[in-house]
Amino acid sequence: MVGSTRREAMKVRIQVVIESEAGETVDAHEIAGIHRKELRPETLGLTLEEAKTVLEGVQRTIVEQQTAEYLQMQSRCPHCGTKRSHKGDHTVTLRTLFGKLRVKSPRVYHCQCQPRPTRTFSPLAELLPERSTPELLYLETKWASLMSYGLTTKLLEEVLPLGKYVNAETVRNHLHAVAERAETELGDEQVFYIDGCPRDWATLPRPDGPLTVGLDGGYVHSCDKTSRKDGWFEVIAGKSITAEGTAKCFAFVPRYDTKPKRRVFEVLKSQGMQMNQQVTFLSDGGDTVRQLQLYLNPQAEHLLDWFHVAMRVTVMTQMAKGLEGKDVAIQPAVLKELERSKWYLWHGNVYEACISIDNLELMLDNDDPLTVKRRSLLKALRDFRIYITTNARLIPNYGERWRYGEAIATGFVESTVNQVISKRCVKSQQMKWSPRGAHLLLQMRTRVLNDELKDTFRRWYPGTQNEEVKFKEAA
Ligand SMILES: [Zn+2]
Repeated sequence: MVGSTRREAMKVRIQVVIESEAGETVDAHEIAGIHRKELRPETLGLTLEEAKTVLEGVQRTIVEQQTAEYLQMQSRCPHCGTKRSHKGDHTVTLRTLFGKLRVKSPRVYHCQCQPRPTRTFSPLAELLPERSTPELLYLETKWASLMSYGLTTKLLEEVLPLGKYVNAETVRNHLHAVAERAETELGDEQVFYIDGCPRDWATLPRPDGPLTVGLDGGYVHSCDKTSRKDGWFEVIAGKSITAEGTAKCFAFVPRYDTKPKRRVFEVLKSQGMQMNQQVTFLSDGGDTVRQLQLYLNPQAEHLLDWFHVAMRVTVMTQMAKGLEGKDVAIQPAVLKELERSKWYLWHGNVYEACISIDNLELMLDNDDPLTVKRRSLLKALRDFRIYITTNARLIPNYGERWRYGEAIATGFVESTVNQVISKRCVKSQQMKWSPRGAHLLLQMRTRVLNDELKDTFRRWYPGTQNEEVKFKEAA
């Protein structure tokens, strides 16, 4: 009532009306009734609980209608039209975004007009073998790739009318099933991925620019505690960056994965890698990654990622800054020498860098009693010397490459391992993984980070796209 100050109660009835193709009402179902009095911030529109009730009600009505129509269609033999005889009723549980629904699923006899391997079948159960809708699987997989299974469960439960049925175990099993399906699409493993010969490569169109691939290893806590050695297992993460700067990441568990090279190759191929294209592999120098990057491209060069070199020097600089007591006296000289060693490495001079590290060792290993902090810095220095001498042939003149705009590192801000693995798998010490569980999760996580999961689902369920189009047209 316009102009009135009288508060009026408002009643909203929500109904689902089912119409035939001709527009006649076939059936109508009352879903919910909502009462509103005074307009306040908290009474504006629907509350989450009301929205969940409405969605669940609409979903139940539509699903019941759809399944009933389908079963009606299935009640006669498609070949001769004879009515199929009924053997018994079962129920199937269908998990959808808007509720878990139990639907009647009859078992019927096959018609005798055609030879059949079985006597009976359940049309609905056979139509919906997965029992969960693709969209629900998609959302579960997407969110569980970004945060823990437990948090994913809580999020979905809070915003969707899924009831108490969702639990972390179910979400994990669904993610594993989706990941395994994606894994079956990966081609066979080969040792050698270089295709053709130099004469063929010369005839290829000019590639867009070099590809830069960063490879790095990390460790994940194992749930398998049969021996001490089993406490941790290795995970490899990588990122491939095109000349235009678009990046794709990948990851795998070497102990579990049987096709690591194929996996990396497919990522590079999806970014348009050609056999005449320059590919720079940047790694932390570990054995697993060294093996992996061989024979993927004839033009490949293999370098130690400057990120790892610089990080190690940064850590030692922090340790030197933390020196206390008598050690403070040598601090300025130590810091200066660390800077010198980094400068030599930046210019690819491993020989001078080693001399610089030897000088540092002499400074730290002096006649004063060895303090805990000096001892750890000394140990870090010795490890660093081993690290650069082992990887000496992978150390280029970074400064020169940098001036020419060539790749020297894939992650100055954050390592690929941190982005891909640590943030999801090693956030807390309690998180323990099986090699299979970690591998499958990482396949989905990289797909989500690469923004490819939705395309995967659209390819598997092409109907999804059509429905969306129809919905837009209707609106
Ligand atoms: Zn028949």
